[in-house]
Amino acid sequence: MENIVIFGAPGSGKGTQSELIIKKYGLGHISTGEVLRDQIRRETELGKMAKRFIDNGQLIPDDYMVKLLAEVYDEIGTDHGGVIFDGFPRTISQAEALKAMLAERGHCVAAMIELDVPEEELIERLIKRGKESGRSDDNAETIKKRLDVYYSQTKPLIEWYGREGVHHHVVGTGSLESIFARIEKIIG
Ligand code: ATP
Ligand code: MG
Repeated sequence: MENIVIFGAPGSGKGTQSELIIKKYGLGHISTGEVLRDQIRRETELGKMAKRFIDNGQLIPDDYMVKLLAEVYDEIGTDHGGVIFDGFPRTISQAEALKAMLAERGHCVAAMIELDVPEEELIERLIKRGKESGRSDDNAETIKKRLDVYYSQTKPLIEWYGREGVHHHVVGTGSLESIFARIEKIIG
C-alpha cells in the first residue's frame, strides 16, 4: 500500500491536487472534510455534532476523527494500491493514531506532500470559494479561525513528518498543472 498524505492550510488546494493524483495514479481518496460534509447533509448524529465545530472553524475532536478514519480506510483501503489522505491528520495525535492504525495492517505513509501557499492567497481563494460554492465555513470570520487552528495545531506536523523521513515541500502557487508537475516528480 503506497499511501500519501496531502497536506496544507485551508484553501491550499488539497482537494484539487488529490483529484489529479487519483486520475493519474488510480489511488483511493479519503477527504475527511468531504466525509463530514456528507454526514451533515444526511443529518446523522455525527453530522450534527461536526457542523457545530466546522461552522466555528474548530477541529472535530480527535477520538471521533480517528475512529471515523479507520472505518473509511477499511471500506476503501484495499481496493486500491493506496489512498490519499486529504485533510487528515490535522493534529500530532491524529498522525500518531494514523501511524498505529496503518502499522496494525502492515501499511504505512509513503509520502507526505505539503502544499505551501502564502496566507494572502489562501484567504483570497477561500473567500472566492465561499461565494461560488456557498460553503458555510468559507466566510472571513471562520477562515481566520481555521487559519489560527492550522498554525497552532496542524502546522507542527511538517516537522513531525520530517522526522518520519517522508515530508516533501511543494510550492502551491502557479497553475494547477505546474503544481501537479511538482507533485508528479515526488511520486514518480
Ligand atoms: P482544502 O481547502 O485545502 O481542501 P479545508 O481546510 O478548507 O481544506 P476540509 O479539509 O474540507 O477543508 O475541512 C473542513 C473542516 O472539517 C475543517 O475546518 C474541520 O472543522 C473539519 N475537519 C476535516 N478534517 C478534520 C480532521 N482530520 N480533524 C478534525 N476536524 C476535521
Ligand atoms: Mg478540501
